[in-house]
Amino acid sequence: MAASPVILPGVDELRARAQAALRAVGADVPLGAPGAHGLPAGTPITGDVLFSVPESSPADTDAAIAAAAQAFTAWRTTPAPVRGALVGRLGELLVAHKRDLATLVTLEAGKITSEALGEVQEMIDICQFAVGLSRQLYGRTIASERPGHRLMETWHPLGVVGVITAFNFPVAVWSWNAAVALVCGDPVVWKPSELTPLTALACQALIARAADDVGAPGDVSRVLLGGHEVGERLVDDPRVALLSATGSVRMGRQVGPRVAQRFGKVLLELGGNNAAIVTPSADPDLAVRAIVFAAAGTAGQRCTTLRRLIVHTSVADGVVERVVSAFRQLPIGDPFAEGTLLGPLIHETAYREMVRALDRARADGGEVIGGERQDMGVDGAYYVAPAVVRMPAQTAIVHAETFAPILYVLTYEDLDEAIALNNAVPQGLSSSIFTTDIREAERFMAADGSDCGIVNVNIGTSGAEIGGAFGGEKHTGGGRESGSDAWKANMRRATNTINYSSELPLAQGVRFA
Ligand code: NAD
Repeated sequence: MAASPVILPGVDELRARAQAALRAVGADVPLGAPGAHGLPAGTPITGDVLFSVPESSPADTDAAIAAAAQAFTAWRTTPAPVRGALVGRLGELLVAHKRDLATLVTLEAGKITSEALGEVQEMIDICQFAVGLSRQLYGRTIASERPGHRLMETWHPLGVVGVITAFNFPVAVWSWNAAVALVCGDPVVWKPSELTPLTALACQALIARAADDVGAPGDVSRVLLGGHEVGERLVDDPRVALLSATGSVRMGRQVGPRVAQRFGKVLLELGGNNAAIVTPSADPDLAVRAIVFAAAGTAGQRCTTLRRLIVHTSVADGVVERVVSAFRQLPIGDPFAEGTLLGPLIHETAYREMVRALDRARADGGEVIGGERQDMGVDGAYYVAPAVVRMPAQTAIVHAETFAPILYVLTYEDLDEAIALNNAVPQGLSSSIFTTDIREAERFMAADGSDCGIVNVNIGTSGAEIGGAFGGEKHTGGGRESGSDAWKANMRRATNTINYSSELPLAQGVRFA
């Protein structure tokens, strides 16, 4: 382990911070002692269990879905702008409790304070978006081929939306789904990651308060705590009309076919293996800054983390040298501390996966720079230096998503080769090109360019805004959530044909008399 002078907060201090934040948001939950019956609520900052929280039983799950299904009968006919008032109130409460929620995000996911605050800001942003959306659930009017007829599309609430989320965005992903689903007229039953139950309880307390304040039925939002078995009950329940699941490709492979089997709708947001191309014309200062944030931010634990750098041979040495130097200067340690830029990995398994990936890369001929575990004076927490790995070729380990700060570097000679490398992995979430050549930028965004759901120019692969539809192709699952017209996944479409004439012409000129 590399030595470090960082002093982490003690477990009692962390426990007190969690209790204060939960109290502030009004989350009145029984917190058991660590080791007591229930779900352990821990922190990657020290690796300690802080509390145990009640786990949802099969009967709890059934009751939550039943209550949400019952709430749907009233919520679907509540005017959409009135539904928007609930989400607007939630947004106000999030503004008031931004710091409290961010504290819990840092505690449970290990995000540095600035990124935790950013995650809560994303929730506020999507609430504002959804309030506007509540007056814009537009359908189209379509020209009919028959005289005296008109076609129109109407969008109706779908039903209960089940939301399953990952540990790394413990609150934002719920809000992308919930804010939009609620204005669309759908109650939400949420199964957060088993690693982040406290943030979920805090969100539930805020939405319950918002519902109370505006007179909305409280059952339009429910939370269930537990592991994959709780999620599986949501997956298999026919009362769940849309299942929106965010997590690993492994999880999506299990969830997708099971929902399809019962003809439910499914929205999958799965793993990424994101690349950035650096061309000879790139602005090097801008590119290096963007690369460092995208690769090392959230300690490499974003779905959009930059994992592969595809850099032109003529600039490769200079770019790599600057990235390595920037990585070495990143302050690693207590994510609550001012100035820290890299917090912990989520758990020991994540660290073991990182070590295994670096070993594999070495065996494949890769040159590994960095990646050492940092000594923080506690055994159960895993802090690492980000790693740069110069690879001779894209081997199997480069095609895999290792959820840790590892940046594989590959070189290219011409842009076609770089785009082929970008597209060579099974995942298709995010991608970037750094260039000042408009032809290269346009080519990367064209139909034969990047095959990802997110295709950026002169910014990194991570840090998307809520206004756009978020998601990716191939093994990333094909789902889209958050902004743009992603709301359509939360509604059912009816095509209405209206005959306002006194004749009955049949379509396609068919005669039946
Ligand atoms: P994970 O797949 O281990 O767990 C995600 C969630 O799925 C958890 O709530 C878990 O309990 C649940 N789950 C697991 N198996 C299940 C099953 N068979 N049925 C129902 N629920 C099940 O993922 P994680 O380790 O929490 O998060 C990291 C992964 O999530 C990475 O692969 C990352 O890229 C991905 N991710 C993707 C996005 C995106 O928008 N594309 C966003 C965040 C994270």
